[in-house]
Amino acid sequence: MTEPRALAWTAALLLAAFAAAAAPLPQEAPVPGGVAVVPLPGAGAAAPVVRFRGKRVLVHRDGMRWVAVVGIPLAARPGTAVLEVDSGSGVRRVEFAVRPRRYAVQRLTIKDRRKVEPTAEDLKRIRREQKRIRAALAHWREARPESLVFDRPVNGPLSSPFGLRRFFNGKPRRPHSGLDIAAPAGTPVRAPAAGVVTETGDYFFNGRTVFLDHGQGLVSMFCHLSRIRVRPGDVLARGQVLGEVGATGRVTGPHLHWTVSLNDARVDPALFLPRKQAAGTPTSGRGPAPRR
Ligand SMILES: [Zn+2]
Repeated sequence: MTEPRALAWTAALLLAAFAAAAAPLPQEAPVPGGVAVVPLPGAGAAAPVVRFRGKRVLVHRDGMRWVAVVGIPLAARPGTAVLEVDSGSGVRRVEFAVRPRRYAVQRLTIKDRRKVEPTAEDLKRIRREQKRIRAALAHWREARPESLVFDRPVNGPLSSPFGLRRFFNGKPRRPHSGLDIAAPAGTPVRAPAAGVVTETGDYFFNGRTVFLDHGQGLVSMFCHLSRIRVRPGDVLARGQVLGEVGATGRVTGPHLHWTVSLNDARVDPALFLPRKQAAGTPTSGRGPAPRR
């Protein structure tokens, strides 16, 4: 073999290695509550360290380049957003555009009035729980996620999409920061991808809940479970059962509420499902089975 051919072979092998490293990305939606995929300068072997609004951002090898996979908070304003990128030779600013998106309104009636207008005692409990919930959703683990494309955690129709602007018993409340999947109580809830259980609890609004950390600031939260079948520290493989669908917390009936947090921003879980699975998402909040 002559030397140029050997070089060509080496180049081909390197290209193949890079191509093999290119795993699928989530669906891109650079809107509030969505995900931006931002190419990063430099193609070094070492992963750049990226921050958005002071928080570490997931970086992903995409063929020959690195990309940042950025969660955009629902409260973000459309316009130019800035990443701070450290590739080892100083911090550079990389801009990306956040486009506007208007989410539908949903009106729900909750029979348990305390779940809409909590007492002073309830509020104390809620504040205590919020601290734990926020910490679990903001958790950073250096390990890279096994995959950025998830399986649906339960089989069932998507009943309430992410982002709905909500009114409970006529009162404006926080927007729907997850995706609801309708399923009978007792249906097994499975890890949509591998992860580490970082927290479990029984909360005022969220009911019985499991937090699953997929790595690099990508965290799933599963709410309203009737039964929790894991403990903090458990390492779950994709598809492993973590609990059962229930109706604990603020609900109108049994269903799974699934939140996905990325760099501490709540984003649309449907963006992490394969396109055909995400297609069942209703576009309006006036579906037949509105849930929490
Ligand atoms: Zn929900």
